[in-house]
Amino acid sequence: MANSLVTVWLEIHLKLSTATKIFCRCKNDQSLENNEPNSNICPVCTWQPWALPQLSEEVVEKGLLIWKALHCSFNNPSRFDRKSYFYPDLPMGYQITQLYNPINVNWEVKFFLNNYEEEKKVRILDAHLECDTAKALHQWETMYLDFNRAWTPLIEIVTWPDFSSSEEAVEFAKEIQRIAKWNCLSDADMEKGQMRVDVNVSIRNSTDDPLWTRVELKNINSFSAIKRAIDAEVLRQEQCKIAGEEIHQETRRWDDLKGQSFVMRSKEDALDYRYFPEPDLPELYLSDSMLKKIESTPLTIPFDHIKKMKSEYWFNKEFINTLIWDYSTLEFFNSLLSKGFDPKLIAKWIAGQISAYMTAHFVWIDWLPVDEDQLIEFFEIAKEGKIIDNQLKLVMEEMLSSWASASDIIKERWFDAPAFSQDDLLKVCKEVISENPNIVEQYKWWKTSTIGFFVGQVMKKTQGKANPKEITAVLTGELNS
Ligand SMILES: [Zn+2]
Repeated sequence: MANSLVTVWLEIHLKLSTATKIFCRCKNDQSLENNEPNSNICPVCTWQPWALPQLSEEVVEKGLLIWKALHCSFNNPSRFDRKSYFYPDLPMGYQITQLYNPINVNWEVKFFLNNYEEEKKVRILDAHLECDTAKALHQWETMYLDFNRAWTPLIEIVTWPDFSSSEEAVEFAKEIQRIAKWNCLSDADMEKGQMRVDVNVSIRNSTDDPLWTRVELKNINSFSAIKRAIDAEVLRQEQCKIAGEEIHQETRRWDDLKGQSFVMRSKEDALDYRYFPEPDLPELYLSDSMLKKIESTPLTIPFDHIKKMKSEYWFNKEFINTLIWDYSTLEFFNSLLSKGFDPKLIAKWIAGQISAYMTAHFVWIDWLPVDEDQLIEFFEIAKEGKIIDNQLKLVMEEMLSSWASASDIIKERWFDAPAFSQDDLLKVCKEVISENPNIVEQYKWWKTSTIGFFVGQVMKKTQGKANPKEITAVLTGELNS
């Protein structure tokens, strides 16, 4: 197999989570549970010739916040352009987007690779506001159109060809999703189409060769599908190259079930879209007060948090994976951290029993049966170090199932009783041995298999206050004497 250099770049569409659509006052809500098809529509978002668009301030604000999250500067003024093409979900034959003078310039996104071992920077070519089309639903021979999605606000992010593997593309897309979700700018659910990722793939023999013709893959709806689609496309292009076939510039539809892509259309040139300044919208001037507001709005940058976990707390990948799984978990961790606890201590419990409970019960961290005060009490006790780890695990288990407080559980179970002295332990061990002469007899024949029985008996008598290792040592000594 040829060893080609892989070049990938991405186009990501994010649906902004705003109250209204971008150019009208209709609700920006497409969920089928809440909305009948075509219930959130008006003359503007159904492209009636006399209706004029009016830009939503909230959309601009959320757009500016995404751009701020990625360290860009703003073009002021900026403007919108009309992109003309015909498709049934675009009945007037045009979409409003930003081509010539978008708001943003000079982006850069940092993210982690290889289980947070490696950092990478990817440049952003462009990220602009645009409106979505209506949703086309196909049933047998008929196409149905739902305009609830028409004119909802999107941000399209286009990267430079800076990725050299499918893994890099996936990690970058995950970082973009975190930025959007953690700052409530987009729900970015790929399954619901709130985040759509198109990948462009091109292979070449060495960095000196120009990029080969690019092939764009659409209809990818999960992170794992991004990886599968890129890997399959690289293979397809390599096979074309070996067979001496030409690779065509085209757009292909990825079928994740078949693990194959199919030609959708040959890529139109930008000219085909007949872009021109949108005549129905004035230039967009950002006011000083708007810019000040954006500047003073704090943002959560996932990369910075991961970097801190890595370089300041020395967390392993399991801890980081758990803490960045969703924003509420990170917030929960940070809130406990602000109480002065050791980061490793908290991360250990969140990534351990708490996360296991969440997975088993399909709940978010906000829905735990214990509140923050109860956990603070637990961590105070853990910090003191008077209760051994095995007992703390039992306490946490009971807290999660009974809603009881750590101190009550500890009292009830006598975990706070003074630890057993070596003399006391010896006494109990002797007692257990003398109470079970038959088993002592068995021990003499099959030593190891019966020692567990004695340890269990001693644990019972000491109510879990003695250390099983110590018990085993004392018992072995006694039984063999
Ligand atoms: Zn509308």
